[in-house]
Amino acid sequence: MNTQELYQQHVLKNYAAPPLTIVRGEGAWVWDDADKKYLDFTTGVAVNALGHCHAGWVADITRQMSTLAHCSNLYAHPLQGQLAAKITELAGPGNVFFCNSGAEATETLLKLSRLHGHSGRYEVITAKNSFHGRTFGGMSATGQDKTQNGYHPLLPGFRYAEFNNIQSFRDAVTDKTTAILIEPIQGEGGILPATIEFLKELRELCDKEGLLLLMDEIQCGVGRTGKWFAFEKAGIEVDAIALAKGLGGGFPIGAAWMNTKAAALFKPGSHGSTYGGNPMACAAALSVINTIEKDALLQNVQKLSAEYHQQLQGLVQQFPRIFDTFRGEGFLMGLVLKDSPAPMIEQLRENGLLTVPAAGNVLRLLPPLNVTREELQTSLDILQKTLFSTNS
Ligand SMILES: *Cc1c(COP(=O)(O)O)cnc(C)c1O
Repeated sequence: MNTQELYQQHVLKNYAAPPLTIVRGEGAWVWDDADKKYLDFTTGVAVNALGHCHAGWVADITRQMSTLAHCSNLYAHPLQGQLAAKITELAGPGNVFFCNSGAEATETLLKLSRLHGHSGRYEVITAKNSFHGRTFGGMSATGQDKTQNGYHPLLPGFRYAEFNNIQSFRDAVTDKTTAILIEPIQGEGGILPATIEFLKELRELCDKEGLLLLMDEIQCGVGRTGKWFAFEKAGIEVDAIALAKGLGGGFPIGAAWMNTKAAALFKPGSHGSTYGGNPMACAAALSVINTIEKDALLQNVQKLSAEYHQQLQGLVQQFPRIFDTFRGEGFLMGLVLKDSPAPMIEQLRENGLLTVPAAGNVLRLLPPLNVTREELQTSLDILQKTLFSTNS
């Protein structure tokens, strides 16, 4: 049986049938099982931050695998301590909990909210159109029916307010509220950035009401916007941050950073994960962060994305019958189409460019942080070619 048949028969059908079998990758490129080459602007949904098979990252993980792969959290190992120190250096004084995925990082923020509420307050306000993961907590926090359908009753204690509408968040506060959780840029929801004003007003609201301000940076964090964290643009301080996706660069890891006051709420035995922060995951994440620093990748994102955004804006103007607008920050970008992006995503794939849909007719572009100007130009050439053939 070939791969597609094996999937068809044996893999759970919770995903749409995969249109492609990918067998290897190198940098910003992947190859399918017929050896056709694609420019990968899916990057495993904002995961392969350094592209595929980055030599230093492979070396760091391989070395760790043949030194110590796993030891559980009953014992310390050097890399978990180093990674926690590195994350606090970037996020601020506090402590870090390690897990294996974004949803688990969200769960940690939700458990922190309950501890902060001291059994009396337990409600968390999240945004409509948000996405926070597929576990019961993450799904209940997610303000989208399509994620929750079929799974009721959900975890109680969530209220959903309008994104970028501070009055809506103010109105949702009750005497049971303990925290506000948002994505600084809604990713799955369609690449919708929170405004600086909204982020500042959320901070003020949380200070006034004694609430935790929690950031889901799982998709937009770790350099994707040209900053370590997307909320930094507002110059505010937050109480906790959920990280995953790009943090491991393709090796599963999630993390929840929290400030010192929030961190003091966790005591031995109050939370845990067997695999969380295991030596290989920490080697991968340290390699990603060190490479971003060493190769000045935040600067690469800032510089190249500014030019690329203008070029994409140009495309939107050139094809007004196809596009509505362009949105994004750094390398978290969305072309908003007038109709479903599915046919264009398919044509782009045939022409050698992999992209991802998001809600609201959005075609998401997620190049690796170390993409080159030439590769960005190649993506524009493929977009032009595809648009001309669609338009004619
Ligand atoms: C992907 C994502 C999650 C869930 O991460 P998983 O690793 O799939 O559990 C949560 N929040 C946001 C914003 C995401 O983009």
